[in-house]
Amino acid sequence: MTDNCVFCRIIRGEAPARIVFQDDEITAFWDIAPKTPIHLLVVPNTHYDSLNQLQAADSALLGRLILTAARLAAENGIADDGYRLVINTGPDAGQSVSHLHLHLIGGRHMPVFFG
Ligand code: AMP
Ligand code: ZN
Repeated sequence: MTDNCVFCRIIRGEAPARIVFQDDEITAFWDIAPKTPIHLLVVPNTHYDSLNQLQAADSALLGRLILTAARLAAENGIADDGYRLVINTGPDAGQSVSHLHLHLIGGRHMPVFFG
């Protein structure tokens, strides 16, 4: 946990968020500036700056992050129409919060994106 990380503060209950899921490893909450009708963030409770900090020993955690997002997609009614999982990593990808997070976006058609 880091004191100046907004996601760590959300996980600790020190900053407001619309949390939809939390257990001892993972927290999921609504993005504050949603880009699509469904836009949730799924984050590990442990602070990692980005995907670059994960190692082979973290494979189970990464799997749980992805499966949690898939479950939340189903719970929000977008599993069949489709959704996208995005992990922005580093400056070229536009990562703006340095706490590893997985975007779950969907609820409308999204154009193919390689921008
Ligand atoms: P990224 O650009 O991949 O780092 O995504 C960071 C995301 O975090 C953006 O979509 C922001 O809208 C979102 N965000 C930033 N601060 C908060 C917050 N306090 N609560 C919820 N989402 C946030
Ligand atoms: Zn953090």
